[in-house]
Amino acid sequence: MPEGHSVHRITRQFERNFVGHVVHVSSPQGRFAEGAADLDGRRVVEARAVGKQMFLGFEGDRWLRVHLGMYGAWDFAGDIRMDATIASANGRMGQTNQRGTFLDAENPDAVVFDSAGENSITSIGAPRRARLRMSESEKAGAELESFPPEPVGQVRVRLLTDTVCADLRGPTACEVLDPAQVEAVVAKLGPDPLLDPGAASEERFTGVVRRKPTPIGLLLMDQNVVAGIGNVYRAELLFRARLNPHTPGKLVPEEVVRGLWRDWAKLLAIGVETGQMMTMDDLGPEAYRAAMASRDDRHWVYKREGLPCRVCGTNIVLEEMGARKLYWCPRCQA
Ligand SMILES: [Zn+2]
Repeated sequence: MPEGHSVHRITRQFERNFVGHVVHVSSPQGRFAEGAADLDGRRVVEARAVGKQMFLGFEGDRWLRVHLGMYGAWDFAGDIRMDATIASANGRMGQTNQRGTFLDAENPDAVVFDSAGENSITSIGAPRRARLRMSESEKAGAELESFPPEPVGQVRVRLLTDTVCADLRGPTACEVLDPAQVEAVVAKLGPDPLLDPGAASEERFTGVVRRKPTPIGLLLMDQNVVAGIGNVYRAELLFRARLNPHTPGKLVPEEVVRGLWRDWAKLLAIGVETGQMMTMDDLGPEAYRAAMASRDDRHWVYKREGLPCRVCGTNIVLEEMGARKLYWCPRCQA
């Protein structure tokens, strides 16, 4: 499932390519025909990400709310203008990013490719006729022969400008809301450190966690406690804090809870910058390149069940928690 960093990256793509434009909205599949007719012909005025949800604002106080869920994805096609952050993470802007090790100074286009395709959009300049799929990973598609492309498969909604097309498939939620309804949805969500980086968010998160008897491993996944964390970040944040996932929230020391919030803010920023859930710190240049290239080399515990812990050598265990797989080290996180 796409975690918060993916939704922020997708939202930036909408900011670059759709905000300010009048869009033709349709539902090739038909399941969103009524909503599409309501939005059709309106100008997009805003794109917001809150945790795992995206809200696209249209003229006339209409909002499109999308939650990709487990299977949803956006496919962009046309003359795609890359968000500067995304383009630079993918090497085309020719800048060194926050971590100089990511780009080869001699050869700025020699970007590390990820074996799972998480950053394989390097071939897309800005703008250039291309295809790009964005869900929990990002992938350049086959060359675009004509524009707009024929809708393929179950396209719930298509947003089309003169130059860019975005197709949504397989979302958990896709609906039109009015501003009050948007506020109601957002009010229920916990803080998102990219939107609310201030001390008040840390206080809110800390206060909620420390009142609950619920295991911290469940609280981190509860979107009403903190927005945007999914299965990968949950496991990695808990390991980085050396925290037992079963510890009731109210028994986690206050400093540790605050540390979790700050660490989430840090990892989310790295995720938005690089497009990858990089959760290991202090890697040398070689190890960093390897980690960017392969998921197996960039996590402490996620998907490492049965393998020795990178710190203590104990085998990482896998259990179900909140109907999702949880990976942790029974010794480091005792
Ligand atoms: Zn360990």
